[in-house]
Amino acid sequence: MIRLHNTLSGKSEEFKPLQANEVTLYTCGPTVYNYAHIGNFRTFVFEDLLRRFLELKGFKVKHVMNITDVDDKTITGAAKEKKTLQEYTAFYTQAFLEDMKTLNMLSPTLQPHATDSIPDMIALIDQLIKKSIAYQAEDKSIYYRVSKFERYGSLSKKKLDGNIAGARVAVDEYEKEEGADFVLWKAAKEGEPSWDSPWGKGRPGWHIECSAMCMRHLGETIDIHAGGEDLVFPHHENEIAQSEAATGKPFVNYWLHAKHLLVNNEKMSKSKGNFFTLRDLLAKGYDPMAIRYTLLSVHYRHSLNFTLESLKEAREIIEKLDNCFWACVSRLGRTSYPACDPTYWQNMICGPAFDEMTKWMGDDLNVSAVFAEFFEIVTEINKNLDKMDEQGLKACIEFFKTADRLFGFDIAFLESIPRDVVKKLKQYSDARKEKNFAGSDALRKEIEKLGWLVKDGRPGEPSTVKKIRRTWDIKK
Ligand code: AMP
Ligand code: ZN
Repeated sequence: MIRLHNTLSGKSEEFKPLQANEVTLYTCGPTVYNYAHIGNFRTFVFEDLLRRFLELKGFKVKHVMNITDVDDKTITGAAKEKKTLQEYTAFYTQAFLEDMKTLNMLSPTLQPHATDSIPDMIALIDQLIKKSIAYQAEDKSIYYRVSKFERYGSLSKKKLDGNIAGARVAVDEYEKEEGADFVLWKAAKEGEPSWDSPWGKGRPGWHIECSAMCMRHLGETIDIHAGGEDLVFPHHENEIAQSEAATGKPFVNYWLHAKHLLVNNEKMSKSKGNFFTLRDLLAKGYDPMAIRYTLLSVHYRHSLNFTLESLKEAREIIEKLDNCFWACVSRLGRTSYPACDPTYWQNMICGPAFDEMTKWMGDDLNVSAVFAEFFEIVTEINKNLDKMDEQGLKACIEFFKTADRLFGFDIAFLESIPRDVVKKLKQYSDARKEKNFAGSDALRKEIEKLGWLVKDGRPGEPSTVKKIRRTWDIKK
């Protein structure tokens, strides 16, 4: 069973998708006016974990993540840099796609750009006008009449009471104007990009973009819609109002929101200037998978206070996982193994551990319990490496591969060590046995040149190798 905390009900609910084996998932993508910061990536990586988990449970996930390439921020940014909106946003879209890869996020099934979906937005606004829910104001822009939608406020639990009738808000982002009519289509302003519409030239408001792209690609009712907690109001509240008023159907069955990444207990944000981009951290020598681990290490509904110190701890964890995986792989291909029940590691350790991990994941992605179980097994594997038979080692390697599918830490990215490295490692071990340290040193360097790091075992234990690809390996 999978339980997810639904912001709409405020409760943990059993997850029942519309189709037995399929999940429709919409995640609000980046606004491409700058590099995404790691606060943004906390939300995106949480969504990636959710998707990976659903796939591991056997669902086919249709995942749509939009690219917001027209809104107040992108237009202001492009004007400042004297670029066209397209030139300006294409650069940051590309950077975002690269950052996603660096963090080993799965590619969404579809990544529609808002500017490619304008006819869908116009059609949706048209429906709302026909139903007298949207209207054109004196400024020629089209607004959504919030008082026409009874359930307005049901997601954010905001009340319409006390708001001035006819109050309007023309900007994409706002916090306090709970009951104000919000903009769907902004009449063109001098020098700003605009598109033709039945109401004259203009451009869409941010909220209508997601409603239109979500319904176009996933249908009028979808299973899961996710984002960061700041999107609950007004963005998602407005998405519900627009979509449900147009179709008369529920828009989303499960709303999931990630709490913010904080710095000194304040939200990491561009406007506060307290942010790191992924690139900032890579330039400081931090490893992408250590960053990924840090972002995932705290349950998504708890705030996560970011420190550089936490990245150092994460580095140790990733290094431990790497070492354990390679210790297993290095022990394969021997001529003899200790006697051991060949099914023991799969049936008694790895299989049950994975069942336990997925059980905790199914409890609203309880990562603390999942990681506790995972690390316990890694310790157990480390303790028993030299007692394992070939089947046991293979079971542990499979365990790492499945864990990778879930966490995306990219530990088990290669299944075997190239032959020339194995050969040199054997020569290296022989040289050490013969106390020929000049010879073993030379061989160590040769192995490093091939891209592998030699790790000496304790006395009596074999030396192993692991692929050099982490920042800390490369510096050594
Ligand atoms: P934006 O590019 O501003 O549209 O934001 C992209 C995603 O990042 C949205 O889901 C936001 O809710 C989320 N987000 C923004 N700041 C943070 C933060 N400090 N921590 C977690 N998520 C955030
Ligand atoms: Zn959105």
